Amino acid sequence: MVIAIDGPAGAGKSTVARALARCLHYCYLDSGAMYRCVALEALRRDAGSVLEAPGALAELAAGLAIQPGDRVVCDGRDVTDAIRAPAVSEMASRVAADPGVREAMVAMQRAVMANGDWVAEGRDIGTVVAPDAELKIFLTADAQARAQRRARELGGDAEVVLAEQALRDARDATREHSPLRPAADAVELDTTDLDVEAVVGAIVALARTRSR
Ligand code: C5P
Repeated sequence: MVIAIDGPAGAGKSTVARALARCLHYCYLDSGAMYRCVALEALRRDAGSVLEAPGALAELAAGLAIQPGDRVVCDGRDVTDAIRAPAVSEMASRVAADPGVREAMVAMQRAVMANGDWVAEGRDIGTVVAPDAELKIFLTADAQARAQRRARELGGDAEVVLAEQALRDARDATREHSPLRPAADAVELDTTDLDVEAVVGAIVALARTRSR
């Protein structure tokens, strides 16, 4: 069974998806970590020239060996902490708009999820990566609440986080290829006033009805 968890930044996807995977004994895929690896590498290789040369980003993405586990390993280097830097978040939403990058990431994600039961989180899991997922959840929360969560998690000023988040959300939602949007058959859950246990409990209950 595949459970797709999509939604904007800070809606609680990672926390919820990890807890859900633990609870159901499913594997967990953080697809955002993979776009972050591409962004980190683009920054390392001088973002300007990589972004400008046609096809270069896609080539870079397709050539990376990414292991998106508890520790994220990219080309043999542990980048778990490095990919969480604000500059990498910003660059990730830029590289993620490139159709060639998306094609390479989607192929890797499908290969990773080919066997077993998965909770996969991202922006396009229910719409593109796993359109046949048995359960699709679209997590939302109001923008202030999302920014406050992120600021608490990563440190930093909530107002600055809010501004960066708005930029990233706008980019993710308006890009031409695989924009952030709920799948037609997704269940939308607003987590603004819910704690993690309540959200996970609601999804587990839905999963039980789908796996019968
Ligand atoms: O989820 P996370 O914030 O780590 O994702 C970083 C960026 O990667 C997002 O802002 C988005 O632009 C991109 N992304 C995507 N599709 C996914 C997962 C992430 O476009 N499935």
